[in-house]
Amino acid sequence: VKIDAVDFFYLAMPEVLDVGDGSQDALLVRVQAGEHVGWGECEASPLVSIASFVCPMSHSACKPVRDSVLGQRLDGPDDIRRIGDLVRAQSLDLLQADHTLSGIDIALWDLLGRRRGEPVYRLLGDQRATPKLPYASQLFGDTPEETLRLARAARDKGFRAAKFGWGPYGRAAPADDAAQVFAAREGLGDDGVLLIDAGTVWLDDVAQAARRLDALRACRVTWLEEPFVSGALGAYRRLAELAGPVRLAAGEGCHSYHMAEQLLEYAGLGFIQIDAGRIGGIAVARRVAEAARARGVAYVNHTFTSHLALSASLQPYAASEPDAICEYPVEPRQLARDITHEQIVPDADGRIRLPDGPGLGVTPNLAAIAPYLQDVEIRVGGRTLYRTPAL
Ligand SMILES: [Mg+2]
Repeated sequence: VKIDAVDFFYLAMPEVLDVGDGSQDALLVRVQAGEHVGWGECEASPLVSIASFVCPMSHSACKPVRDSVLGQRLDGPDDIRRIGDLVRAQSLDLLQADHTLSGIDIALWDLLGRRRGEPVYRLLGDQRATPKLPYASQLFGDTPEETLRLARAARDKGFRAAKFGWGPYGRAAPADDAAQVFAAREGLGDDGVLLIDAGTVWLDDVAQAARRLDALRACRVTWLEEPFVSGALGAYRRLAELAGPVRLAAGEGCHSYHMAEQLLEYAGLGFIQIDAGRIGGIAVARRVAEAARARGVAYVNHTFTSHLALSASLQPYAASEPDAICEYPVEPRQLARDITHEQIVPDADGRIRLPDGPGLGVTPNLAAIAPYLQDVEIRVGGRTLYRTPAL
């Protein structure tokens, strides 16, 4: 079949707050090829990603993403990889192209899986999916007392692992940060898996991060996530040498295979976290998962939005080691909950299983998301390049 249409739907909460919560808006992608339909989601600023699909060509290496997608053949996984390569070549100088491609790639896998009646992970070559231990992913409270309450709530919901991040962490004195980490450990209990996310707060300042290590070690934190920005490979490497049993985690900022490969090669990571909605889709995320396995670095999904994005993020490492964990947003905004009919919830054993339906195994709930749909029109030189399509 040929790709006939790619439609973008910009969804947003009535109010978007200045907090580190990526579930406040979303960009849903629908791909149609003949009578077949697939859905994906981009993890990035929705309007900018739409613009990179429709923008006028600037020169031969700066074409709109649609030029590499519409009309392309789609008969198997190799076509999806070929389309990805074409986007990267023709939109080389269009920096948002990888984000836009991500949602399209996810929708193409979903479409192909539905057409063949198989979950995406089988198309990737995995026969079965291993259940994963979900970690309750949330923001630090404004105070240690608030964090203690959040950690207790996660444990009471049955989570054996939890991550706290962003908020005040890293911005106050090391003693205040320590109080936050001790509160998280107390609330989660002695046997819980505790993860801390610094949200790149120290940029590349190893000394600042090192001042927090004693508390992280005392609280038996499994990983310190994103102490630095993605490109600060030397800083990561130096901190990894100081951190001892606290392993470093990073990778959500990667928007290409090679960015992730640099992290794997030079940053001294224990965990690499990839967002399929950002790195270029499931095809690229899968390549990173294979590279990580070859280097003995644990692959973990990154996701903070809907269960469609959650399912997409799990596909690349479906057949993981039995002790693998996965990110699981516990307090997303209503928009993110409303995007799909199905919810992926922990089983009786507290583990997350990938949906076994065809494609991503989840379907958008069009009636529920209609109220969030933003009315957008992009006009250039009197020509309408984009107008919000009908759901
Ligand atoms: Mg993070």
